[in-house]
Amino acid sequence: MATSVLVINCGSSSIKYALVSERREDRIYGLAENLGAADARIKGITVGGEPLELSIPYADHAKALETLLARLANYKPQAIGHRVVHGGSLTKAELLTPEIIERIRAATPLAPLHNPAHLIGIDATVRLFPELPQVAVFDTAFHQTMPPHAYRYAIPKFLYTDHNVRRYGFHGTSHAYVSDKASELAGNLKKGGWLTAHLGNGSSTCAVWNGQSVDTSMGLTPLEGVVMGTRSGDVDPSLHSFLAKNLGWDLAKIDKVLNNESGLLGLSQLSNDMRTVIEAAKNGNEDASLAIEVFSYRLAKSLAALSCGLPTLDGLIFTGGIGENSAYIREKTLAYLPHFGLQLDKDQNNNLKRGTEGRIDNGNGPQIWVIPTDEEGRIAKETRQVVEAAENTASVASLV
Ligand code: ADP
Repeated sequence: MATSVLVINCGSSSIKYALVSERREDRIYGLAENLGAADARIKGITVGGEPLELSIPYADHAKALETLLARLANYKPQAIGHRVVHGGSLTKAELLTPEIIERIRAATPLAPLHNPAHLIGIDATVRLFPELPQVAVFDTAFHQTMPPHAYRYAIPKFLYTDHNVRRYGFHGTSHAYVSDKASELAGNLKKGGWLTAHLGNGSSTCAVWNGQSVDTSMGLTPLEGVVMGTRSGDVDPSLHSFLAKNLGWDLAKIDKVLNNESGLLGLSQLSNDMRTVIEAAKNGNEDASLAIEVFSYRLAKSLAALSCGLPTLDGLIFTGGIGENSAYIREKTLAYLPHFGLQLDKDQNNNLKRGTEGRIDNGNGPQIWVIPTDEEGRIAKETRQVVEAAENTASVASLV
């Protein structure tokens, strides 16, 4: 069955794509951006690491996908895997059928910025490539194993039963990938407790027990939890009414400030980009220093809190652009976590080569790993599994 899978992540005016084959080195990937505008273009890496830049003026999602597939004609994928942020109550990756597409649509109120864009991509690929099996892989699915005491909010029950207000969690493909990979590398920890920290522009933490998510820092939406690039993470829920009453802000304004103007950007007054914030802090900028301190402390606090979900804490994993590349943030975070016997080997931490996986503890406590995430690889793997299962079911059915 499928050796190559086209992984698609549709935003409102962009499409991230990756053609994932068995070998990671052979991956072709890129981004179609500014869709619908005069400067719409595709930028990416093609076979052998060659850069690609292609102007596609005013192309919409369908046109961009058509152009992409024409370019990938020699590597015709056997399936398409769609990243979908919110699957509502769907608990695993699913073959796209009219019923599953309707359920993705029904989850739109829970991810109003993401799911409509995914549906545009799904609509286009289903029309363009009706012969290809297509699968939706959900950010929320990995967290559907959380127990009710982790996913319920302490608010009136009808808000959960009638309106689906609960904690869902996101970044599921990343938490699943790195915890699986670390278990594989650790050899003896297939069963065990991992804390994972996915630190990118969006950041979240997760507690994984025996390969299943038992708690995570993001909630109903990806705003809950740790400090992010532009997102505040946890605030007092009464902040909304405080801002409304005292500053006259409406809900749209409050949402915008907490999602787009807070986090590292809000604290540092400089940037949402951790590299810029670290550089400024090193040059004596006090707001930038504080932003790093709040980021690291709150991250440590979130990890400590999530440890309650684990019968034993066997290891901690850092991933995402910040987690993979910043020895400085890893060290700062661990300095706030002295209670679990976690012991960093500073040399291994500092010497870990960019983009590589490695163990950075000193061997005397729970393991500490840096694992570069591979969300596209994980989506491709789940897509293959779903398609293979469907093919097997079909061949069994044909025998009956
Ligand atoms: P996204 O969530 O958009 O996929 P990434 O996982 O690529 O984002 O992470 C982006 C973040 O990683 C940015 O804040 C960037 O500054 C940070 N980052 C990348 N390299 C480094 C580094 N060497 N040191 C500190 N932060 C880094």
